[in-house]
Amino acid sequence: METYTKTLSIIVPCYNEEESIPLFYNETIKQEEFFHQKSVEFEFIFVNDGSKDGTVDAVKKLHEKDKRVHLVSFSRNFGKEAAIIAGLEKSTGDFTVLMDADLQDPPAILPEMYGYIEQGYDSVATRRVDRKGEPPIRSFFARRFYSLMRKISKTEIVDGARDYRLMTRQVTDAILSMKEYNRFSKGIFGWVGYNTKWLEYENVQRAAGETKWSFWKLFLYSLDGIMAFSTFPLSVAAFFGIFFCLVAFAFMLFIFIRALIYGDPVAGWPSIICVVTFIGGVQLLCTGIIGEYMSKMYMEVKDRPKYLVKDEF
Ligand code: UDP
Ligand code: MG
Repeated sequence: METYTKTLSIIVPCYNEEESIPLFYNETIKQEEFFHQKSVEFEFIFVNDGSKDGTVDAVKKLHEKDKRVHLVSFSRNFGKEAAIIAGLEKSTGDFTVLMDADLQDPPAILPEMYGYIEQGYDSVATRRVDRKGEPPIRSFFARRFYSLMRKISKTEIVDGARDYRLMTRQVTDAILSMKEYNRFSKGIFGWVGYNTKWLEYENVQRAAGETKWSFWKLFLYSLDGIMAFSTFPLSVAAFFGIFFCLVAFAFMLFIFIRALIYGDPVAGWPSIICVVTFIGGVQLLCTGIIGEYMSKMYMEVKDRPKYLVKDEF
């Protein structure tokens, strides 16, 4: 038997992917020859994120004929972020790569990605240059989200960036050292830094099954992203506070002077109601913003496990 000096851990989060898993394995294994020439051996880590279909059996079947296939199976659905971290924690490779099970992250570019690592890059990331096959409304909001993030966060978050990423052990460990509970990978990758090479490719349609992201799930995820990597909303709240203090002061002066000149007939009930309700609304909005951050802090402080494992091999 040949021995290889290095290992590449392929980490695949799976949620209801029974159809995709064999397709994914067959496609990816085609790249094996290239990597063997470089003395790199594969290690597959499938993370079953509480699937309700035969995902576990599909992985078991692969494990029977290929002992390099491993599984971490969660006790329920914890989300893709949890699956990513579980896979990275279990990985033993000198390199790790994150890939979706649906073949939207084409395995064919793995050799090219590895080439850049050999050239000295610490990680090779991918972004898709178009959003073909995606509902236009989703693309629209995605674009708005990224342009907003660029303005309000110091961390670089790239539009169209996928989680498909090949990393050295050093970068993997850096990511694992970020212990936060509310995880937003796109931000975490930007935050850790290191030399990153960006590759671009056109959007690929899912091989089988359907997307696990509803519009609402994506919307909530984008709010997580904003709060995890920007405190700008808090500044907005403070800005409202200062702004209304100034307005109130100007108004006070105006009323004071007017009373001196014209006396003080009781009037202006409608305007008072308008001002009171408007400022009341702004106060609630600002309290809400603070509340959102507090709820994130609450979850961080509880320090619950990010996932629970039911089964692994
Ligand atoms: N996924 C997961 N947990 C979830 C949702 C998705 O592990 O709660 C996995 C899913 O099985 C797939 C990857 O994350 O391998 C990307 O999901 P999907 O293809 O549905 O997202 P899209 O490509 O449509 O953005
Ligand atoms: Mg997909």
